[in-house]
Formats: sequence, structure tokens, C-alpha cells
Amino acid sequence: MSFWPTVILATPAHSQVGQALSYRSEQALPVGALVRVPLGKRDTLGVILSCLDTAPTDIDAAAIKPISTHLSQLPPLGHAWLDLVRFAARYYQRGVGEVALAALPPELKKLDPTQLARRLTRNEKGRLAREGAVTAEPLASEAAEPAEATMAQKDALDGIRGADKPILLFGVTGSGKTEVYLQAAAECLAKDDTTQVLVLVPEINLTPQLEARFFERFQAHTVVAIHSGLTPAQRLQSWLSAHMGHARIVLGTRMAIFASLPSLGLIVVDEEHDPSYKSQEGARYSARDLAIYRAHATPHCRVILGSATPSLETWHAAMQGRYARFDMPDRIGDAAMPTLRLVDMQRQPKQTVLAQPLLDAIIARAHLGEQSLLLLNRRGYAPVLSCGACAWKSDCPNCSAFRVFHKIDRSLRCHHCGFAERVPPACPSCGNVDIQTVGRGTEQLEELVANVLAAAPHSDGRALRVGRLDADTSKGKGQLDAHLAAMHSGDIDVLVGTQMVAKGHDFRRITLVAAINPDGALFASDFRAPERMFSLLMQAGGRAGRAAAFGSRPELWVQTWHPTHALFAALRAHDYPTFASQELAERQAANLPPFAAQALLRADAKTQAAAQAFLTSARQRGQAAAEQAGIDIYPAVPLTIARIANVERAQMLVECTNRAALQRFIQQWQADLHALRHTPEGKPIIRWAIDVDPLAI
Ligand code: ADP
Ligand code: ZN
Ligand code: ZN
Repeated sequence: MSFWPTVILATPAHSQVGQALSYRSEQALPVGALVRVPLGKRDTLGVILSCLDTAPTDIDAAAIKPISTHLSQLPPLGHAWLDLVRFAARYYQRGVGEVALAALPPELKKLDPTQLARRLTRNEKGRLAREGAVTAEPLASEAAEPAEATMAQKDALDGIRGADKPILLFGVTGSGKTEVYLQAAAECLAKDDTTQVLVLVPEINLTPQLEARFFERFQAHTVVAIHSGLTPAQRLQSWLSAHMGHARIVLGTRMAIFASLPSLGLIVVDEEHDPSYKSQEGARYSARDLAIYRAHATPHCRVILGSATPSLETWHAAMQGRYARFDMPDRIGDAAMPTLRLVDMQRQPKQTVLAQPLLDAIIARAHLGEQSLLLLNRRGYAPVLSCGACAWKSDCPNCSAFRVFHKIDRSLRCHHCGFAERVPPACPSCGNVDIQTVGRGTEQLEELVANVLAAAPHSDGRALRVGRLDADTSKGKGQLDAHLAAMHSGDIDVLVGTQMVAKGHDFRRITLVAAINPDGALFASDFRAPERMFSLLMQAGGRAGRAAAFGSRPELWVQTWHPTHALFAALRAHDYPTFASQELAERQAANLPPFAAQALLRADAKTQAAAQAFLTSARQRGQAAAEQAGIDIYPAVPLTIARIANVERAQMLVECTNRAALQRFIQQWQADLHALRHTPEGKPIIRWAIDVDPLAI
């Protein structure tokens, strides 16, 4: 007897191949089973979506190919997982197969059944060996014991226990949020022998302490990590232990939201406001939003969103009562919140980079053995080189952006396409040898700080030292770890860096944090820029004074040309709720998210005109349906950086106050978009994509 399974495969939404293909099998296969099937000339991994015992009537049964292999060693993917993948595909307007297969570890797609069996045996041996080692040594270290919860932590834990909606844990840096995650996870694991916990973090390399604390606390239960820094083999191993139920805790970045967790009971989203939870390629999903969905769709699964500065979407949901909010306003052990010191740049001498009072404060603290953190969101030495004699600037030939001057290897590098050249000895346009730098980046700031520190050694003659942490100095994990270690050991007195330094680190000796030039965000065209700036400054400030007993009063310095801006008043009072209500009022008045739902249609082409023509045609085709549904389609515009690597990029905003209506419209509109591929407007398009709930517009 034959069975007729439908199988989802990694076919992109654009392809004409449907959502699931029919195959033939000699046995009945469970939904969610992993199989290898022929597709064209290849054999490819697929997931069983359904299995019928009668042949489909719409295709010639004789032409239907048999599946090649059933990977029967692996339990099938669960209904909840399939449901998550289907929801993500529908909501983010992609193919189910594309989303499902992208969610599986790449290595799984390569292994044949024999290799897979070998891998499973090896993992099992390793697991038993580890478990043996743990039982032989039953005494966990004292440090791993949970602390007695504070009142605020107890409230939050009680709330989590009884929660029937998502929990927002709103607590400043150092208020004990991580301890709440740890204890909530412990309770979950104690329930039975199967319940699993998923912990999402924005960037795992930047938060080694969080990882370490989970490993330390839960060494007896398998904790695995899932992120892009793993080798393919490691990723497969982590995925398998989660899927087989051996791993009880999975710690990961946004991709881990798709991990197969058959007994999921708790999801934690740490720093839930972080933009890195939104994917910028393929299905442009938000792991934070999918966490809410996944917890809702999984029986008895809770979800905790933690942040000192929640996204306005989350804050709004909490204000409306859709999420339960628990506040942790105080730092553990009475550690003080940093005092805000605004430097009015209008009153500083011309060309000031670091104001004198700030320099004095940094040096004074360094002499006391305390560290400072200087934040400048621009790497390289200078963002532009420019010729004073003619109009030449260091444009990138491939992008509508300047190439950045890196003094360290005397290169001009484009941060968008990677194009790099040695700095020309003279102006390439007029031959003038006196080319000037314009503006400054972290490299130059490091140089400047080094000069200042050199003139102010310790009283016993020991020199003060500066370090730099940005994408250029942390290419490998080893390099990043070395910087972090130097900071922790106190080998560095002043650390200069991009926003990378503001995230997560638990540096105990930092008492001063300074944002050198954050003004850009106050007047950016992106309506989310102030929200991001507030959160970055709060988070950066949170780096200062984490240890109550250590050092001088913590300070957050901000050099600004607009010291009277309302954002700073809220920052001074550490008052996120006031800032949020101001911003939400503005968003409501302007009908922006979270009061409206948005999507972007993006198109790439060789010319800007072609990219926009495609979007304009799409708009014309959708116009009538959009009007009927109360949806606004705005005119096509170039992206802020219109050209990258010689590809012109344009986008078009689609907006509606009703999210469901917007979803329905885009769903229908997809047919128009696919049809456009075969028109004159569609031909020159390199790619197009829909971004639902875009973060940057
Ligand atoms: P957050 O995640 O909000 O930044 P943490 O959970 O890291 O805060 O807590 C800050 C510091 O306080 C950590 O060193 C942590 O070990 C400690 N801590 C947290 N909760 C308690 C508690 N209930 N009793 C004692 N120390 C605690
Ligand atoms: Zn010139
Ligand atoms: Zn470029």
C-alpha cells in the first residue's frame, strides 16, 4: 500500500513551486517527520506536512516520486514547532518551506542517514559521559547557589508563576533581572523531568557573563547555546540535544526562537528592545514578537521580556494591560544610579573633542583605579577625507557613502561594500598633497585619549592606558575576549568604543561613562532614533557603578549641542516612563507604530529609476484594494544609503491602523508582485522583499 505525504522544502516564496510538494511513501509517515526527497536532480531535506492514504487527484499519481529516506532516528518535529513556522511564514509573507528549512541547522541538510546515525551515537556517548561526571561530583559550587530573592524579585516570580499573559520585567541595569530569569528557569525545571527553557539574548559574545551564570547555575541540566558563532557541527549538536529533549536550557540569539523544543515551558527575552532581534534578511522576523506568539501557542508556556528601556511597542502593550508589568526600580545592594552630567558644546572652545571637565574627571578616576568608558558611534579614524583645494571627498565608487579613513593601516574603507584602498598620497582629483580629515571616529578618539593620558601618569610613574573596542578590534572571538579580559583585570583605564561597549558587560570598576557625540539621533529622520538613543544612554549609564561598594559616585556624561532637549530631562531622572509617554503621545499624534502597523516593499535594481518604477507599478496594482481596506501606500523613495555595491535600493511604505487588514492586503498583493516579475517593470529587478514591522524606515 502507498501513502501520499506532502513535504515542505526550502523553496523561496517567489518560486512557482507550491508551499508543499506531493511524494509517495511505502509507509505512513508522521506529520513533522524529517525526510530526504528528490527535487530536480538533487536530494533535499524536507518536513512532512501531511500524509494521506489516497493519491492526490489533481496530479498524475504515476508521476509522483517516492521519498528517498525517512530520517527515522529523529523524532518528528512537534505540532507547536510547525505551527510557529507556519505563523512566521504567513505573518512575514514568506514560504513555509523557506522558513522551516532555514530554521533547521545547515549541517542537518547535508548528512545522509548513516552519517546522522553516527553523529547521534557520538552525541549520546558524550552526553552519558557528561552526566556521569556530574553525578560523580554532586556538590555544586557555592557561587552557583541562588541568592535570597529581594521583595521586587519575589513579586516578579509570583507574577510569573500565575501569569496568563506575557510578563514585562521592567528593571534598571543591576536590579536583579538576570537573577529572576535564573530562578524562574529553576522553578520550571523543577516541575518535572522534561520541561525546557529558552533564553534569548541580543548578542551572545557580548554577554559572556549571562551565559556563564546559566552554565554555572544549571550545570546538572544540559545547557546548550545556539548562535551564528558556532561551527556547523556544534550547531547541529546543540539543535539535536534540544530536539531530543536532552538539553533543558537553550541559550541563543534570535535564530534560537526556531529551535525545536518539544517541552517548552518558559521563554526569556533579555534586553527585549534590542534591534538585533529583528532579522534583516530572508524572512524578516522579529524573534521577540515570535516569542510572544510561541508562548501563546504552546500550552503552559510563559514568556518574560526584560529591559530597562522596553521598546515602545512592548511598553504600550503593558500600559494597555495586554502584558503584565513588574517593576524593579532599584539596583541590588543600594548601588547608586549614575548622575547625568551634560556638557553644553556651544560653550566649549571651537574644535573641542573632549571637554576639559570631562578629561579631568576621567584622569581623576583613573588615578583612583577606576575605569571610564567613552562611547562614539563611528569606527575608523575619520569618516571622510576631503581636499581643501577642490571638491574631492573620499566617496566610495560603488556606494552612495563616503569611505572611512583608517589610520592604522592607512586605508580608505567603505563600511557598506568593503571596498578598500590605500590612502592616496595626494588628492586624486587635483594633486593637492594636503588632504584633510573631516569628523572623527573611535581610532582618533583613542589616539587623543592616549596623548592626554600620557601626560598624566600615576604618582609613582606608572602609565595610564587606553583600549579600543569596536568591530575593527574584535574580529575574532579571541580578540574580543582579550579586550574584555584586559578591561576586567584593570589593565585598561579608559575604554573607547562604539555602542558595542554599551551592551551587557558587567565591568565592575567602571564609574564613568561618556557619550561623546550622540546628537545625530535627536534629529534623525527615523522616528525610532530618539527611542534608541535613550535606551543606549540608559544602558551605557548602567555600565557605571555596578558594584555598590566600589569607587566614586557613578556618572554618565553626555556632550551635546542641545542640552535643553526633553530627552535629557528624562534621562537625568532615570525616568523611562516619562520619556515613553512623551514619545507615545508623539507617535499617536503622527499615527506611527505602535498606533499603526507598517510594512515596507523594497526593491533592488541597477538603477534607482528601475527600482522605483517597479514599486510604483506595484502601488498602482494594489491601489484599489488598498483604498477599500483603508490602507495607505506611500510613494516610492530611495533608501537613506541609496546605492550599495552598485545596487540601487528603493522602498515604499504601506501603512494601516488595523494590523489584520494590512496582513490581508499584503497577502493578496503578493499575487500582483509575483505577476510583476514578468512585466517590463519587473525584468530589471534584482530582488524584492517585504519587511513586515520594519525597524528602520
Ligand atoms: P540585571 O540583570 O538587572 O542587570 P543582575 O541579576 O545581574 O541584574 O543583578 C545585579 C547583581 O546583583 C549581580 O551581581 C547579582 O549576582 C546580584 N544579585 C541579584 N539578585 C540578588 C539578590 N537577591 N541578592 C543578592 N545579590 C543579588
Ligand atoms: Zn583636490
Ligand atoms: Zn562601498
